[in-house]
Amino acid sequence: MIQENIPVLIVGGGAAGLSASIFLSHHGIRSLLVERHSSTSIHPRGRGFNARVMELYRELGLEGAINEAGKDLQPAKGFLKGSTLAEAFANADKEPEPDSEQWARLMAIMAAQKEISPTSSSRGTQDLVEPILLAEASKRGGDVRFSTELLSFEQDETGVSARVRNRSDGTESQLRAQYMLGADGANSAVLRALSIPYRGSGILGHLLNILVEADLRSVVQGREFSQWLIERPEMKGVLLAINNRNIWTLHVPYDPQKGEKPEDFPPEHWEALLPSVLGLPRAEIKVKGILPWTASVRVAQSFQQGRIFLAGDAAHEVTPWGGLGANTGISDVHNLAWKLALVLKGVARPALLDTYNSERQPVGQAVVEFSHSQTGEDGLATRERFEPGAAMFMLSGFASQMLSGHGYKYASQAVVEEEGSDPENHELNGQPGTRVPHLWLTYQGERTSTVDLAATHFTLLTGPAGQDWHAAAEVVAARLQLDLKAYRLAPDGDLCDPEKLWPGRAGIEEDGALLVRPDGFVAWRAMRLPVKPQQELELVLKHLLG
Ligand SMILES: Cc1cc2nc3c(=O)[nH]c(=O)nc-3n(C[C@H](O)[C@H](O)[C@H](O)COP(=O)(O)OP(=O)(O)OC[C@H]3O[C@@H](n4cnc5c(N)ncnc54)[C@H](O)[C@@H]3O)c2cc1C
Repeated sequence: MIQENIPVLIVGGGAAGLSASIFLSHHGIRSLLVERHSSTSIHPRGRGFNARVMELYRELGLEGAINEAGKDLQPAKGFLKGSTLAEAFANADKEPEPDSEQWARLMAIMAAQKEISPTSSSRGTQDLVEPILLAEASKRGGDVRFSTELLSFEQDETGVSARVRNRSDGTESQLRAQYMLGADGANSAVLRALSIPYRGSGILGHLLNILVEADLRSVVQGREFSQWLIERPEMKGVLLAINNRNIWTLHVPYDPQKGEKPEDFPPEHWEALLPSVLGLPRAEIKVKGILPWTASVRVAQSFQQGRIFLAGDAAHEVTPWGGLGANTGISDVHNLAWKLALVLKGVARPALLDTYNSERQPVGQAVVEFSHSQTGEDGLATRERFEPGAAMFMLSGFASQMLSGHGYKYASQAVVEEEGSDPENHELNGQPGTRVPHLWLTYQGERTSTVDLAATHFTLLTGPAGQDWHAAAEVVAARLQLDLKAYRLAPDGDLCDPEKLWPGRAGIEEDGALLVRPDGFVAWRAMRLPVKPQQELELVLKHLLG
């Protein structure tokens, strides 16, 4: 039997696994990804990437490609309800326009969102985006093997041994990895083998995700919608726009308790029914595929056991309503990649890896709760989501922070928490554990954001009077053999901040600084220059690195 040695074995080639391969390569770590299917999925599934995930893809240079993949879906915004499409449009026409006060609130919320990130959410569907991720993973040297499945594994003190099978020719091989990532989706075999229990309400409903081809351009153009709740005596479902032209997905609940099975609803059933549902008797309908799925809300109690980590749906299952499944998985692996890299390079102790669970498990928990609140008893989106004013709710306060992917604050050994810090306050104002505040600056003649600066290294972002931090950072970087870059943000600084906005954004004095981790999160805030900046910085970094 062939035996291969690799630093990281990734199980699963969905959004989380492919992103993990890219992020690890970005940090200079070799990985092997095994995926049991022969290609990425044809099902659109996730239809959007939130602002936080787009920040991560921006760092990789993928922002443009993903926006391009999502451009057809971009205009799809409204939520409709009605028994036919014509009735749904008529109902939408009857809805009152927002009054001037509501408009003003909406505008203020949208302006505030623009302030927090150098980018914004994108509408790409997973069937189009995963091939982009696959190409990028391969381009960066990630070893991605399709038609290869994990059969079994066991871990010991120095690594993980795994047996995999090539499904094309049936050959089996033995792998030895220092760490393994279970990104093997809902029903994760990795999680089951580790016997990690779940928390959460579990299954809320059983649904069919029906991929439909129907040219609706003549009725939809100029009236693009995101979701249409269909309520009829013979069926209830939600139709989702995929490209606003001829591809749609229909989500329909079925009830196993009544003896219903997916096979009871073959493609012909929907091809016969949909013309009348659409109110277009002559419409040509082709069902391209049916994916049965369970609407579940549950989170693993731990995302780590020894040298094995869980990410994506393997760690937390949510429903599509709220659009957080793929997004949360991608953010999981971004959090893990830099930690694995520093440990594998011998710069940090393995204890740093424990912070993956302490930081991401609570996020998984919060996402599961949010998703549950958006889901009705049958597993479809709640009816309230289709009521007038629902969009306003989604844009406001907590919901908006959750949806943009910024609605949490880490508390762990890899963050120096401030005294009296309120765990419920997630404001991106420089507080440790939150994503670094966004501020546009000029760097070497180019417009850049503070968010763009965190990449594969620690970054010290000082105020305009922060000259003394530079020498301190240089010495500490050399002593700890750590990649640490220091920038002074000032009208005449390394990064030009003409109006000296940085201290206000970061909550520091002019000689203070933020220490930002390679994942863009604030690790430590020094309000002012300490008496001994070098010693203090070194102490903090040693603490963070475990
Ligand atoms: C109908 C629907 C709509 C959705 N809409 C949204 C949305 O709008 N926004 C959003 O963010 N999310 C959405 N989601 C959720 C999103 O699709 C998932 O959260 C996301 O795909 C999870 O990614 P993942 O990589 O963790 O898992 P998956 O995409 O499930 O990938 C796991 C992979 O692991 C492979 N695998 C499993 N076992 C093995 C093994 N033993 N060996 C090798 N490979 C293995 C599987 O074949 C699979 O390809 C939706 C999901 C569904 C079903």
